Amino acid sequence: MPQPLDIEQAINRKLSTLTTALRTIANNDCDFFEEHQPGPCTCPPCVAKAALAVENDWRYIGHRPERMLGTSPTAIRERAMNAAWKKYMTSIGGGTPDSRLASILGLDEVNPRDWYVATTIIQWLATNVGQCTLSDAHYHYRQPVSAEQIVTQMPGPFEVDNHGFGMKDKP
Ligand SMILES: [Zn+2]
Repeated sequence: MPQPLDIEQAINRKLSTLTTALRTIANNDCDFFEEHQPGPCTCPPCVAKAALAVENDWRYIGHRPERMLGTSPTAIRERAMNAAWKKYMTSIGGGTPDSRLASILGLDEVNPRDWYVATTIIQWLATNVGQCTLSDAHYHYRQPVSAEQIVTQMPGPFEVDNHGFGMKDKP
């Protein structure tokens, strides 16, 4: 008797094939490397890198990611808060980001909605209203001292370039 088709397994196989293909393509230099194009472009390696970056960063994209773009004080704060959240969830020893969030929420496992809500609230803490909440709890925000610090705090696939909105060039 034929086995029933396991849809989930089939999807996972397809996704892992696609990810392998993307990684292979992303492993190449930008097609316009020699011409010193500023930043990522629409060549296959750049598009593959951008796609992998989005795939890796979906956990850190909440309700209003576009609020983190630009140089307004609130954009800088929200970007820094989002970057700090990602750094904390990806760099502390042991476990995975998913197991860390599950532990914070007291759950066995987490789903994309849990990440969406958590990341949205974290970013919200850096808004003007969120800052009032933190201030009431006696936390105070310290402005970044240099432009370099601001740039290195750019989150995931969201990055401001000369055209206003762009993708990071590293997966
Ligand atoms: Zn390119």
